[in-house]
Amino acid sequence: MPDPFDGVMDHEALRNLAMTRECAYCRAKSEKLRCCQACRSEWYCGAECQWQHWPRHRTTCRSLMAVVSLAGVTATILLNRASS
Ligand SMILES: [Zn+2]
Ligand SMILES: [Zn+2]
Repeated sequence: MPDPFDGVMDHEALRNLAMTRECAYCRAKSEKLRCCQACRSEWYCGAECQWQHWPRHRTTCRSLMAVVSLAGVTATILLNRASS
């Protein structure tokens, strides 16, 4: 007999995963984190945390950036221009 709460738990877990991210540096959980604009794979609660984490993230970031498609990079540049 299937557990009636199985689906509920999965849905909740997925929702939390989508809604709540964790700062890569101080591990603070927030819905208002900003991602690394270069690789978009790490999230920070502010510029200070991103700056502090950069020495450790730099290598990962560079390798991730190499994987990012040219189209993705172009979109990032266009988005940055639009928001500034
Ligand atoms: Zn932080
Ligand atoms: Zn990065």
